[in-house]
Amino acid sequence: MSLPPAEPTIIDLSPTISPDLPVWPGDPRVIMRQPYHLARGDAFTLTELAFSAHTGTHVDAPAHYLPDGAGADTLPLDALIGPAWVVDTGPAAAITASLLAGLEIPSTARRVLFRTQNTTRGLMRSPQFHPDFVAITEDGAQWLVEAGVVLVGVDYFSVAPYDDLAPTHRVLLAAGVVVVEGLDMTQAPPGASFLVCLPLKLQGADGAPARAVLIQR
Ligand SMILES: [Zn+2]
Repeated sequence: MSLPPAEPTIIDLSPTISPDLPVWPGDPRVIMRQPYHLARGDAFTLTELAFSAHTGTHVDAPAHYLPDGAGADTLPLDALIGPAWVVDTGPAAAITASLLAGLEIPSTARRVLFRTQNTTRGLMRSPQFHPDFVAITEDGAQWLVEAGVVLVGVDYFSVAPYDDLAPTHRVLLAAGVVVVEGLDMTQAPPGASFLVCLPLKLQGADGAPARAVLIQR
């Protein structure tokens, strides 16, 4: 008789969505209101939501930067779920092609999640927005595409640098790479893991909030 399989360890990568969650400058803030509430004598409590498709942990769809690009509802589940490699970029200020070439990313890695200074600085847990975050440069994005990566995850609200958003997004989205932003990588150990990232199935949307977890055996 064989033993039942051991329960896996599940690491939550998604910050809690609440009105306190920082948002990209100029984006709408999170609104959660209860048009019905038990405390006001209603038969039930019901929450109405209003927020950007790029709130908290979320995916970017091709429609975010590409004319006629596909929506979040079409992102392939076989990219969003599967083995992932968590790479620590140490003190690097940017994820460039030359940095990537020197990191130990297995050539077989198809999903790459970055744990950068953003995580050591606790940016995803900070109530303020920080424009000086570590992100992927255009040549870094090209390196990832050429390496055959199908999903890239970053530990702050944009895959691209604050002052140069379009090139990195365009390179990744045009190549069909799924971009996951706003990951809280605090508890994510570097190395091999298994990612489950399930964005809401929003028709034609340029992005979608997602719950992302790592499963460790
Ligand atoms: Zn986004």
